[in-house]
Amino acid sequence: MNSEVRYSIVIPVYNEEAVIEQTYRRLKLVMESTREPYELIFVNDGSSDRTVAIIKDFGGQDDAVKLITFSRNFGHQVAITAGMDYASGDAVVVIDADLQDPPELILEMIAKWKEGFDVVYAKRTKRKGETFFKKQTAHLFYRILKASTDLEIPTDTGDFRLLDRKVCVELKRLPEKNRYVRGLVSWVGFRQTAIEYERDERLAGESKYPLKKMIKLSLDGLTSFSFKPIKMAIYAGVILILCGLIFLAGLLFLKLSAASNVIAGWNLVMVMQLVLTGILLTMMGIIGEYIGRIYDEVRDRPLYIVGEYYGAKKKERKVKV
Ligand code: UDP
Ligand code: MG
Repeated sequence: MNSEVRYSIVIPVYNEEAVIEQTYRRLKLVMESTREPYELIFVNDGSSDRTVAIIKDFGGQDDAVKLITFSRNFGHQVAITAGMDYASGDAVVVIDADLQDPPELILEMIAKWKEGFDVVYAKRTKRKGETFFKKQTAHLFYRILKASTDLEIPTDTGDFRLLDRKVCVELKRLPEKNRYVRGLVSWVGFRQTAIEYERDERLAGESKYPLKKMIKLSLDGLTSFSFKPIKMAIYAGVILILCGLIFLAGLLFLKLSAASNVIAGWNLVMVMQLVLTGILLTMMGIIGEYIGRIYDEVRDRPLYIVGEYYGAKKKERKVKV
């Protein structure tokens, strides 16, 4: 294989033993058809099953296969970032390992890239085989995010996309810890375009994105690109003060008018107490989300730790002595 890599395919994998070999075969078929040099960078995000063994198995006969193994599970967004850090191609494609994103679309992305676009993202028109709950919450999240930020972050778009080398270089200058990569790509700018596709079902295995990780990802998205949640505290405060004043005015009015027996009793106090405490705690929680992220930035721990690098040729830093 030519040493100059044209395309780098980044595949984050976390316990994907059921699909990984098929994914490799399909990617291989697609990439061979380009007749240009490429590399397949698998980023193992701390899998505990046979994923690594399987990758090493097919990787042993294929120089295009590279494998970065994290020392533990650092999360999907970090895995993507690591893949981009190690990629050496002129164009970098990020794709899920479970074949929900059809590899054949990469050819369409490459065509757009050759037309001169720097980012080609794949927008989902349909999502097959996913639960009603997942589809609805995802739908809602993309809309909330759109409403809360001025940045144009495309809706219904995951991380399946092609990035020109220069976009990756700029992304490396954004060292934030709680990453929402799709937002960062929008932030970086350049010429971006979309292609549409219907998202397939996961080929095999379970989703590696349980509710907890979905919530984390959406909070990262919101807090990274919007201060609206924290500003809600101000609106809520002002509205509550107004309500209180109106209430007070009502009481005074009743007191001054003939009907003097108007003490509502403790029920009302109870309800107010619960609602107000609820609002206060929610607001404190939202502020906490931001502060936690600030703390993460200040500590400045590395984003990930690579336990093992495996590949035909380890990417060497060309340092002249
Ligand atoms: N993934 C990962 N680390 C994680 C969770 C997921 O690298 O902690 C990978 C996973 O192997 C897959 C991609 O991220 O390649 C998307 O995950 P999944 O398909 O489970 O998410 P879903 O499509 O269900 O949202
Ligand atoms: Mg999936």
